Parts: sequence; structure tokens; C-alpha cells
Amino acid sequence: APVIVWFRRDLRLADHAALAAAVATGRPVLPVFIHDETVATLGAAATWRLGVGLEAFAAALSAAGSRLVLRRGQALEVLRALIAESGAGAVLWQRVYDPAGIARDRAVKAALKADGIAAESHPGAVLFEPWTVKTGQGGPYSVYSPFWKAVRGRDPGGVLPPPARLAAPADWPESDRLGDWRMGAAMNRGAEIVAHYAVVGEGAARERLARFVAEDLPRYREGRDYPSRDVTSGLSENLAWGEISPRGVWWAGRQALEAGVPGAEKFLSELVWRDFAWHLMYHHPKLAEANWRDGWDGFPWRGDSADAACWRRGRTGEPFVDAAMREMFVTGRMHNRARMIVASYLTKHLMTDWRVGLAWFQDCLTDWDPASNAMGWQWVAGSGPDAAPYFRIFNPATQAEKFDPDGAYRARWIAEGQAEPPDTARDYFRAVPVSWGLSQDTPYPEPMIALSTGRARALEAYAARKT
Ligand code: FAD
Repeated sequence: APVIVWFRRDLRLADHAALAAAVATGRPVLPVFIHDETVATLGAAATWRLGVGLEAFAAALSAAGSRLVLRRGQALEVLRALIAESGAGAVLWQRVYDPAGIARDRAVKAALKADGIAAESHPGAVLFEPWTVKTGQGGPYSVYSPFWKAVRGRDPGGVLPPPARLAAPADWPESDRLGDWRMGAAMNRGAEIVAHYAVVGEGAARERLARFVAEDLPRYREGRDYPSRDVTSGLSENLAWGEISPRGVWWAGRQALEAGVPGAEKFLSELVWRDFAWHLMYHHPKLAEANWRDGWDGFPWRGDSADAACWRRGRTGEPFVDAAMREMFVTGRMHNRARMIVASYLTKHLMTDWRVGLAWFQDCLTDWDPASNAMGWQWVAGSGPDAAPYFRIFNPATQAEKFDPDGAYRARWIAEGQAEPPDTARDYFRAVPVSWGLSQDTPYPEPMIALSTGRARALEAYAARKT
């Protein structure tokens, strides 16, 4: 009887505990991906990115003598159908930590067990599972630096090698055709443009890590805050879809640390922020929906508005903000420093509810991760655990002077005013939907709001909230 391995956001062969356990049984392995209700909630860019990730993963499975069986429907129903068709006696998968995923997996596990099928979940999505990191009092952490101190010296375990070959079942169950899922259908921006910036699949992710460690890590500590320097790893995209394991990235960082590479410690501590986000989401399942601090519930956030639409389109008149918003629209990515600045501008200068920004990031990011996105937004808005205090308002103009001193990042993304704009800046005008009514000849807007006025308004609302 074959063993089903149910893949979700873990599209890799190496360091995959559930797959390794399936292979260790010596039985045929039936890899499956289910287009279920959780896939239906992904944003446009994430859905597209998942589609190309699945294509690469299916090719990797073929090279290992196997296949990826694609099915659409409710997870339990699909699994039961596959068990009936194939005679499989077990279903194995990698655990997730978001509330919807946990609820789904619990129900699936209970139902399969009741059917007499072995159902087993394995770790691998994070370095340290959320319940294994505890404060002195035995509770969860809500502040980063003690969390980091608690895990920095821990051993997350060794990296499991990829299986050389996967034993194939005698008969393959039918599979949907990936093309019929039309994963790029919701992309109202040029998918072929975004594709140009994506680094897809397990092999490419591994190469990206190796190149980063060799070339950029030594400059990471000094350079990571400068959006035009391109010294960060870019691995969030691959980590988000499980094309590389966090443990693989961790050990690369640790080896560099032991070799005395200067940026290594900083890199490891950034990687652990990802674990921290999952820790927070596991222990506070409403992280993506509700203010983490209750005191924020009455804050007079503005909802979606014409101002927020200008922000989404990269037309606020603040060049650093607009460069970043355009970068995200065109590439599916945005530099971390820029994420903080655009989030601060939206929640403070435009006093807009962080959930408006969170939703746009969810639609645009190819590295979209429910926990890191929610943590990032609540951190900047001031409503989250261990958040930046609300009165600390990033000034996008002084941030630009500091982190984009020669204007290279703004020039990369803002075509207006340049005689010969670079391809990146022109890509933006190729990517925008016709309905936005923009062309390179549309004049660059005046600032929507004077920075000092926006700042004063935000501080006033904040002061009123406290009384
Ligand atoms: P590197 O600097 O090379 O860091 C290595 C890895 O560490 C990253 O790949 C990532 O997995 C992790 N990491 C680094 N910084 C953070 C951080 N602040 N929080 C969590 N993990 C981190 N990251 C996502 O992966 N998905 C998101 O949807 C997302 N949304 C964000 C929203 C906001 C408002 C903010 C402020 C940050 C968000 N981040 C998100 C975190 C961060 O911006 C990205 O992880 C980072 O820019 C990825 O680039 P990199 O891989 O080159 O990072």
C-alpha cells in the first residue's frame, strides 16, 4: 500500500521530515498537492508564485522517478478519494501553524484515524516549533530579544538529505493539469514581468543561498538597510513556499559564523524573526486580524480611501514610498527597510488602518507569509507585541537621505523626470493595469500631504487615545 505525502507550502525534497519518513517505510510514495480552500484565499501574486513553484516541484519529482498528483477540492474529501483509488494506508505531511491550517489539519487527522488510516504530521516549517520555546514562567514570548537569546545557541537538528529516488506506485491516480488551475488568472499586473524577478524551485533556492553566503553575507551587516545595495538573501520567497528549509538556511549561517564571516550573526537573528512571527501567530491566532494590544481598538484609523489607493499605486508624491510600492508591484518583493517606511506612511501620515496595508501586501507579495506580514504590520502600526512606539514616525524624506543617499533606489523605480529611465522604472508602467489610467507621461504627483502635517495629525490622535 502506498504512502501519501501531502505537500502544501513545503515544495522541496531535501530536509523534508514527512517525505523522509514516507521513504523510510520502503513503500511506494504518492506525492499530492491539493488546491483546497486555503489556496483559494491566497493573493494574486502568491497564487501565481505557487503555480510556478508547483511546476518546478513537479519537474523535480519526475527527475526522482516520481510525480506530483494535483487535485482540487476539500482536503479530506480529496485524500479519502485518493486512498480509495490507490489503496494507500497512510498520509504524512509537514505541520503548519496558522489558525486555519491547524483547524483543517486537526480535522483531517481525526477523520483519517477514524477511517483506520495512519495520519502523521512532521516538523520542518520553522526552526523551533512554537510550543518548544518558553519563557522562564513557561509561557510564550512576546518580545523578540529574549526569544532570540533563548534559541540562538539551540541545535535545530541536522539537515536531511533528499531521497535519491522515490518508489512509484504500480498505478498512478489521475492528476489535474496544472494549466487548468489558471494560477496566474488573478494577476492584473504583468505576470511575465514579475516572472523576470522570481527565483523558483529548490535547486535555484539552494544556489541563491550559496551565492548569498559567498558574495553578500560579508557585506550584510552594513548593507542590509540600503534598498539599492541588493545584499540581502532574497530567500523569503523560497522560504515562503518551502523550497528551502529554514534549517538549511540556518546551518549555512552557522557555518559562516564559525568561519568568522562578520554578517553571519546578524543574518541568523533576522532568520529567527521568521520563527518569532510563527511563534506569535501560533499563540495569538488573531495576529492577522485584530490589534494585538486591546488599547488600540478605539483608535480612529481611517478605512480604505482614495488616499490609500494612491499609496497602493505608488503615487503619493513621496519618492521613497512610491519607489517601494512600485518595486513591490513589479517584482512581487519589497526591501525590508522600504516595507517599514511604506507601512509607517500609511498607518501614520495617512492614519489608515494597518489591515488595509496588510491586505495589499497579501495581494502583491510573492513571499507572502501570513505570520511575518501580520507581525510586520502590527509592529509598524504600534498595535503589536514588541512594537515600535506609535510616536516613532518614520520620515520618508530623511529615511531616503540616510538609506538611499545617492537616489539610486528611487531612480530605479521612478521613471518620471528621467530622460532615460532604467528598465525597472519602465517595467512599472508596463505592469500597471489599464484601469489605473497611468502612463510614463503622467506627471509625477505633488506630495499628498505635507510630512509635518501628517506627523502632527497622527501624534494628535495618538495623544487623544491615551486620555
Ligand atoms: P534577509 O535580510 O536576507 O533575511 C533572511 C531571512 O530572514 C528572510 O528571508 C526572512 O525569512 C527572515 N526575515 C528577515 N527579516 C524579517 C522580518 N522583519 N520578519 C520576519 N522574517 C524576517 N517577510 C515575509 O517573508 N513575508 C511577508 O509577507 C512579509 N511581510 C512584511 C510586512 C511588513 C510591513 C514588514 C515590515 C516586513 C515584512 N516581512 C515579510 C519581513 C521582511 O521584510 C522580509 O522577510 C525580508 O524583506 C525578506 O528579504 P530577504 O529574504 O532578502 O531577507
